[in-house]
Amino acid sequence: MLTDSHAHLDDARFAADREALIQRAWDSGVDRILTIGNGTGPDDMGCGIPFAEAYPWIFTSVGVHPHDASKVEERHFEMMESLARHPRVLAIGETGLDYHYDNSPRDVQQEVFRRQLAIASKVRLPVIIHTREADADTERILRDAGPLKGVLHCFTSSRELANAALDLGFLISFSGIVTFPNARDLAETAKAIPVDRLLVETDCPYLAPVPHRGKRNEPAFVLETAKFLAAARGTTLERLAAETSENFTRLFSAPETA
Ligand SMILES: [Zn+2]
Ligand SMILES: [Zn+2]
Repeated sequence: MLTDSHAHLDDARFAADREALIQRAWDSGVDRILTIGNGTGPDDMGCGIPFAEAYPWIFTSVGVHPHDASKVEERHFEMMESLARHPRVLAIGETGLDYHYDNSPRDVQQEVFRRQLAIASKVRLPVIIHTREADADTERILRDAGPLKGVLHCFTSSRELANAALDLGFLISFSGIVTFPNARDLAETAKAIPVDRLLVETDCPYLAPVPHRGKRNEPAFVLETAKFLAAARGTTLERLAAETSENFTRLFSAPETA
């Protein structure tokens, strides 16, 4: 049993063989996937719901990616709050700040991030946070938002931000990036995360782990990231899989499906 806590199953790169790769995930021991509800932009935030309705072991979220923050209109927040009440929607996100690409102006990213945190707190769902080169603002906005549960996904930031997130009660999720030979510092951070705060993910179709690096990523490959983290942390794959699955169940109040 293994949980892919972050996938983009709606991505166009999966159009030709989506059902086959979902089956491949199951066959390789992935018994839960959280597919992210960002889609191609705010109008598409419900994109994960059809998967979550079709497969009892797939769940979804609703949110606006920081790249798309400038496309948000007031009606999208209403849509988010309404879709968040769907029983298969377990989280708000991914939302956050991306100062690497700066696809939307930073002040707009911050406002749209804050609004989504407010919705999460109103509907009592955890948040899935995307943060890139925005450590200080991410920490400040999370602290200002008050008590929330959530995860910093595809973590690549500093040890300081990891510690701040842990202090706020958040979990930290690692993608295939942690397996890259040039990501030694990140692997050191991953070793130091408390066992009850760790998640694994693919963020597919992006960021395939070694030995699939450079290829299209898919949920079955979460196994490679889990193997890497188990070895780095001096534990077994079975234990790491069980612990990260338990953490997923607890954070997202997710049903067990195995
Ligand atoms: Zn992300
Ligand atoms: Zn993502």
